[in-house]
Amino acid sequence: MGKSVINEIFGSNVFDDTVMKERLPKDTYELLKNAIVSGNAIDSSISNIVASAMKDWAIEKGATHFTHWFQPMTGITAEKHDSFIAPTGNGNVIMDFSGKELIKGEPDASSFPSGGLRATFEARGYTAWDPSSFAFVKDNTLCIPTAFCSFGGEALDQKTPLLRSMDAVGKQALRIVKLFGMEDVTSVRTTAGPEQEYFLVDKALFNKRPDLIYCGRTLTGSVPPKGQEMNDHYFGVIKPRVAAFMQELDEELWKLGVFAKTEHNEAAPAQHELAPIFTTTNIAADHNQLTMELMKKIADKHGLVCLLHEKPFKGVNGSGKHNNWSLATNTGINLLNPGKNPSENLIFLLCLAGVIKAVDQHQDLLRISVATAGNDHRLGGAEAPPAIVSMYLGDELTSILEDIEKGIHHDDKMKATMNVGTDVIPMFKKDNSDRNRTSPFAFTGNKFEFRMLGSSSSISDTNVMLNTITADVFCDFANRLEKSTDFKSEVLAIIRESVSEHKRIIFNGDGYSNEWKEEAKKRGLLNLKSTPDAISFLCNDRNIDMFERHGVFSETELRCRAEISLENYSKVLHIEALTLYEMVRRDIMPSVSKAVLSFCKTAEKKKQALGIEPSFAEKDIISSLSSCYDKLFELTNSLDKTVQEAQNTNDVGRRAVIYRENVLDTMEKIRDISDKSETLMPRDIWPYPTYGDLLFKI
Ligand code: ADP
Ligand code: MG
Repeated sequence: MGKSVINEIFGSNVFDDTVMKERLPKDTYELLKNAIVSGNAIDSSISNIVASAMKDWAIEKGATHFTHWFQPMTGITAEKHDSFIAPTGNGNVIMDFSGKELIKGEPDASSFPSGGLRATFEARGYTAWDPSSFAFVKDNTLCIPTAFCSFGGEALDQKTPLLRSMDAVGKQALRIVKLFGMEDVTSVRTTAGPEQEYFLVDKALFNKRPDLIYCGRTLTGSVPPKGQEMNDHYFGVIKPRVAAFMQELDEELWKLGVFAKTEHNEAAPAQHELAPIFTTTNIAADHNQLTMELMKKIADKHGLVCLLHEKPFKGVNGSGKHNNWSLATNTGINLLNPGKNPSENLIFLLCLAGVIKAVDQHQDLLRISVATAGNDHRLGGAEAPPAIVSMYLGDELTSILEDIEKGIHHDDKMKATMNVGTDVIPMFKKDNSDRNRTSPFAFTGNKFEFRMLGSSSSISDTNVMLNTITADVFCDFANRLEKSTDFKSEVLAIIRESVSEHKRIIFNGDGYSNEWKEEAKKRGLLNLKSTPDAISFLCNDRNIDMFERHGVFSETELRCRAEISLENYSKVLHIEALTLYEMVRRDIMPSVSKAVLSFCKTAEKKKQALGIEPSFAEKDIISSLSSCYDKLFELTNSLDKTVQEAQNTNDVGRRAVIYRENVLDTMEKIRDISDKSETLMPRDIWPYPTYGDLLFKI
């Protein structure tokens, strides 16, 4: 596709700034724009005018319906479609859309998770227009990004706390920026660029596996002879079917104004990645939701299924999401950009010290923000960071901070020139630090990259945490600096203190190694291995105070979130356990029995025809498979019992722990036996497509 075509389609289905300027009266446009930039409330007088312009534009794009598009705590987006049609009274209809309908919606909210926030007798939920994220047309529907809250104003979604946290950190960062004399700055926002990993598998094969259909991951399956050990998939040539999918995905995303930029194969076979260009965090969060939704939809059109689960295949790399994050002023300054002389860039160093302090103090919250049943399988799985939060700064920044701590002068290293050893290849400047791919929280030049997120989650939770913990530390810094008489030495004192008190969180080595786990323990860093472990930290007094202090969550909201996380965790494991039970009892055991019968028949016929007793091999296979059969029977019985036990436990926390300790453990044992029988069985009797089929047949 030519460049001009891309220009033409990019954002063509978005009611963006250009369209608004074109279609709104000048004063309305100014009022709206002002509200968007400053984050202030919209003057309700303009909503009718905006709604009407939006409707006309959307109808021209083929829309017949509108929906408030929101993100309940299910992790996916929700829509309730209404048509534009309104009766005129004389039996005719007109296409209508009022300001009221734009600003507020009232979906019946009783079936979305609320953690007890909203009793069914007051099932009213409200959606409220977020003008800072542009409306768009998708599937003949005008989609209006909205926040979702209860009758009492409690957040029932991912967007509301995200917007609140952006306000919180923006407010505190602005105080700091002002103290540094940057008077022209009027707002600071966080930016995010989430890289998204995913798998593609053949739809016909997918449809033969109940585990993929119900759980999004395989619950059995022995590892094929060839995996990713040859590293021939990473950045390898993209197969035609996948390339066609990627091209269509790019085009559809571009139409929606999503800056999809690079697409390449990932480490595992059938695994890929999409990286967008970063943007303001709440828009990035909306765009990431759209990206996941379109990946699924477009894969389907190409006879493929997109798996967003964190660990679809055991023994093969899982999928994550890398949340690149920074802070930018409205004048375009990135506060985490070290510039040419980082050691003299005090505002950068102060912000850096702030993030170090925040991450060390709130390891629990960052871990909690990525805690799901799916991601538990991936973290610590030798291809993803462990469940321990640590930070990578690289040698150069680490040594600057060490020198500040010691109070000695630091000479910034000039960037070295890279010489590849042949004149044909132009020389270029090397980055100041190499990349460390094993750190969960790495400084990567002018931003931080948090790599613990699961591929299927919204990025909102993580950014809520990052923004709030940073806001809290920046608030302390600003309080101190506003009182100080010697600004520069106070800045240095703050940096020095932050570094010396929190440097244990900095680790530049191999985060996947076992030595690091030992070392982290010595340093007193948290290692919260499972979701129930992590969530138990969420509602401690320190966290409640902090979230309330910055207006991000009330205590009630926080408690509800903890409950929803634990409930989701248990529900996922429950579904997985039932699925596995059914697969084993109805497919796997019958085929094991069939295989035993066929081996027995062979032996019997041989004896009839030739009078030969069963061979050692025949006996061995028959008895191994028979013993697998018996064990599968026994283990599925105990799976059933542990599931009952979990179900009969009322306390959500306790229930989640039973699922983790007993149910998951039994499922693993079943899997081992099932995988063993798979390798002993004739291929044509095994009831499911194998790992080899799924990973290599595209
Ligand atoms: P990788 O981590 O795979 O090497 P890149 O360095 O190309 O990838 O960038 C990763 C992501 O970081 C991209 O989505 C990019 O837009 C995003 N990014 C770059 N600068 C910022 C920033 N200031 N704030 C947030 N995200 C950023
Ligand atoms: Mg990355």
